[in-house]
Amino acid sequence: MSKQETKVNKIRDFHHESIANREEFWRREAERIHWDEPFTRVLDDSRPPFARWYVGGRTNLCYNAVDRWLPQYADRAALVWVSTEVDQERVYTRRQLYDEVNAAAAMLRGLGVERGDRVLLYMPMVPEAVFTMLACARIGAVHSVVFGGFASVNLAQRIDDAAPKVVVSADGGSRAGKVQAYKPLLDKALGLCAKPPQSVVIFDRGLAPFEAVAGRDLDYAELRREHWGRQVPIAWLESSEPSYVLYTSGTTGRPKGVQRDTGGYAVALAASMEYVFGGKPGDTYFCTSDIGWVVGHSYIVYGPLIAGQTTVLYEGTPVRPDGAILWQLVERFRVNALFSSPTAVRVLKRQDPALLKRHDLSSLHTVYLAGEPLDEPTARWLSDGLGKPVIDNYWQTESGWPILSAQPGVERTPARFGSPSFPTYGFDVRVVSETTGEDLPAGQKGVVAIVPPLPPGAMSTIWGDDARFVQTYFTSIPGRQYYSTFDWGRVDADGYWFILGRTDDVINVAGHRLGTREIEESISSHAGVAECAVVGVADELKGQVAMAFVVLKQAAPVDDPDAARALEGDIMRLVEQQLGAVARPALVRFVGALPKTRSGKVLRRAIVAVCEKRDPGDLTTIEDPSALEQIKESLQ
Ligand code: AMP
Repeated sequence: MSKQETKVNKIRDFHHESIANREEFWRREAERIHWDEPFTRVLDDSRPPFARWYVGGRTNLCYNAVDRWLPQYADRAALVWVSTEVDQERVYTRRQLYDEVNAAAAMLRGLGVERGDRVLLYMPMVPEAVFTMLACARIGAVHSVVFGGFASVNLAQRIDDAAPKVVVSADGGSRAGKVQAYKPLLDKALGLCAKPPQSVVIFDRGLAPFEAVAGRDLDYAELRREHWGRQVPIAWLESSEPSYVLYTSGTTGRPKGVQRDTGGYAVALAASMEYVFGGKPGDTYFCTSDIGWVVGHSYIVYGPLIAGQTTVLYEGTPVRPDGAILWQLVERFRVNALFSSPTAVRVLKRQDPALLKRHDLSSLHTVYLAGEPLDEPTARWLSDGLGKPVIDNYWQTESGWPILSAQPGVERTPARFGSPSFPTYGFDVRVVSETTGEDLPAGQKGVVAIVPPLPPGAMSTIWGDDARFVQTYFTSIPGRQYYSTFDWGRVDADGYWFILGRTDDVINVAGHRLGTREIEESISSHAGVAECAVVGVADELKGQVAMAFVVLKQAAPVDDPDAARALEGDIMRLVEQQLGAVARPALVRFVGALPKTRSGKVLRRAIVAVCEKRDPGDLTTIEDPSALEQIKESLQ
């Protein structure tokens, strides 16, 4: 056996052990965190596909992230905040983090927030967002962070579903040097809500002047002053009590609230910080994601802090002030592991490659990339340019941590660019046939599915809707109650996995997961629109972009190019106002009809093929072939 095969086998054995001796495996891993009361059972999966991990155990995410490391690391940096947007930096030691979190927890308690109540955050990348998340965890409140790039309709939907007691927000953020006002979007969202919360706390950065609503809006700084010095006792939660709800897009227009537990999540993150991210207490970890995404929850906030590491919170883009900013930060803060996205690297690829060599990167052991497919040339460019390993890891909001990844903390295996390597311990993941549900042999393309129970840290249910959880994720594989990732995949002869795109109508724009259905609903709310189809089309920089094809209520499509351009602009603005700039289609085209099957289903795959200048394949079910021709013509 070659040395490489031996290494791959070691990962395979580790994975096998985690499935075959599941309870023993996770019992051992549970020792990584502090339990106020020990659990009585590792796993209760008596009600499949639901899984409860560490039954009866009591713990707390905030305690494990902050208090637990105080004796050892009181004066060591816990949170480093750098904003190249507003040219500010702040470093918080664990002691200072403890003080801030306690003040924020006292503030929330003062506003009547109790264990199990929801608090919704709509915030830019500022330390106060992290304080508030940890403060929620401290008092047992369930936080729901909404990505700052989302707009009023998205926000209102999430507020209505989570029914938070308090919303914490800011006057604004900044992206690429442009101030983005949050407060007007929030006010608009609250106006759309069926039952808006009683209190809104605004962290005023002095970026975007706003009107405070008397009796509702409160000032973060003032509340902080009022509660400064208070110590708020930890709420010891039963392991399965929810820590947070994070909304994600699916095939319907209604976002799903992914609910996460407490104990399983803490253990899963702590283990991944060593096995996947090769880290140890005292290390410095820099994740460039946003707190509004799952990557930000797991690897800006909870993972590094629970593992006793320093976390870097960055407000800015990878190219300002120049394309070396990430490397400059790695050098300055002696970062050990960097986690970013393929899109960020594709942006950097357009810069001078010498920038990769400008800084001392001796502290950095590995770069991790996730959130969207990582193409081989991009991975190679970065790995060669830095002379560092680049690890592609595949996961979802639902899984909470990597499903597929190299695991250098277990064994360093050779990378195969284009592949996120192997199944991660705990995930019994398979490639199955979409028609029979059977496992497929190496080389064949099928649906990536996970045999329940899902491991610790994965979603426990959809917020407030157990039936929807089962229906959405566990009923699409024929004859098996497996979890569907809704991704296509393939395993090669050496056991390396490849992800081959979504099986559903979810698209991924620069790592942002969007439901085409949500964008279609937004476009359809325009008075002139009869119907529309939104598809994801391959894009060199962003992976995918959304393109919209619209049928207008007036009989003829827009013939006058100026009128068409004006209407396209109107529709783009509408989507931007309702959903946010991330959801704005790259182009909107007007057609007389959409290509549909005789049963009325829009032929999305055919539209995508035409947009990508590929052969649309089998069109025997198409009702009106000229509709596809119209799409082709509209693109010329
Ligand atoms: P999200 O829930 O927003 O993290 O999006 C999850 C989806 O992003 C997955 O279902 C995949 O379609 C895609 N994805 C995430 N990471 C990767 C990766 N490393 N390679 C390919 N696709 C990925």
